[in-house]
Amino acid sequence: MQKKPKVVSFHYTLRNTAGEVLDSSMQQGPLTFMEGVGQIIPGLESKLLLMIDGQKATVKVAAIDAYGEKDPGMLVQVPKEKIPGSEKVKAGDQFRAGPSEDHTSIFTVIKVTDTEIHMDGNHPLAGQDLEFDVEITKVRDASDEELAHGHVHGPGGHHH
Ligand code: ZN
Repeated sequence: MQKKPKVVSFHYTLRNTAGEVLDSSMQQGPLTFMEGVGQIIPGLESKLLLMIDGQKATVKVAAIDAYGEKDPGMLVQVPKEKIPGSEKVKAGDQFRAGPSEDHTSIFTVIKVTDTEIHMDGNHPLAGQDLEFDVEITKVRDASDEELAHGHVHGPGGHHH
């Protein structure tokens, strides 16, 4: 019989190399992912799949196995007239844009000149080595329905 992919729930605290906390699951509850569908970064998924219920660990993930290195091609300059409401745009603002609804990136404004808005479409964590404190809260096999849908059902997943 073929081994079923796992569904893993875990708590995490994410830090950068300077030790600053960037994100944590403590507010919204454990994060749940299905093995092999690319739901979480590969460098973290491979480590979590080796762990058992209740296990805690600190997982270091290099940028290349996390959100990748920064891509210079994702630095864009857009003429102000192309952006509705551009007079109000300032550094630090974020936009969601992309070729289709399923393939969007968050663009962060890095600079506004008289004529152009400079934006960075890299993931905010691109180029950063990350460190996760994790605690596994549940490990189970994926159900046939979940496998057919390609996503997790129930707590921490889709509801349909
Ligand atoms: Zn479904």
